[in-house]
Amino acid sequence: MGASDLGQRINILARWLFEAKYPVVFTGAGISTESGLPDFRGPDGVWTRRDKGLPSKPMSFSSAEPNSGHRAIVELQKLGKLSFLISQNVDNLHLMSGIRPDLLAELHGNVDRLVCASCEQTVDKSDGLDTCFCGGSLVPSVVNFGQSLPRKALAESYGHSERCDLFIVVGSSLVVHPAADMPRVALESGARLVIMNQGETPFDGVAHLRFWEAIGNVLPPAVEQLKQFTEAS
Ligand code: ZN
Repeated sequence: MGASDLGQRINILARWLFEAKYPVVFTGAGISTESGLPDFRGPDGVWTRRDKGLPSKPMSFSSAEPNSGHRAIVELQKLGKLSFLISQNVDNLHLMSGIRPDLLAELHGNVDRLVCASCEQTVDKSDGLDTCFCGGSLVPSVVNFGQSLPRKALAESYGHSERCDLFIVVGSSLVVHPAADMPRVALESGARLVIMNQGETPFDGVAHLRFWEAIGNVLPPAVEQLKQFTEAS
């Protein structure tokens, strides 16, 4: 399907969201590029620039604000159409936009949060705590390259991927493991797979619906249409 049928594909996505009993959304750095944060493999991404020998751009998480893509996911939550949100991002924009913490797994941590080294409970840095209520020590939650991912967030993400009937990838090239396994888990459980990403992914051949357009041109209009279906029903 080409660019001219964008409206049709948005319509299909809205209908699938309407029908879904257990929609799960999976986000990567691509959702935050419209907030001015660089992704990794996009046209101006961190690795793309490095491969071209270009200097890296500064990342300023503190000034970044949620964009229309983040807000569209909050709308899904309000409509009861977000069973769970899995994110590879550390930029805190999902929580800032109003996503319920209990519906969110941040696989790579969060620049604004500390995590308990024993029980994996997270707290806001601004709370000024250094010890968890369980007695464990609170350490920065961002997962560095080569470190293992938080077990609880990972287990929850696999669990919801198994249970979902619609799995929507938003702005991830799905190459970082183990996160990249989750669309496969969802597919094996019979879920519909939707991918919104401007670059290629290993799942392009098996996705049921594929968007190459900017997220801001896809997700917000799809959610608007979903609202119309919901009001009409
Ligand atoms: Zn603890």
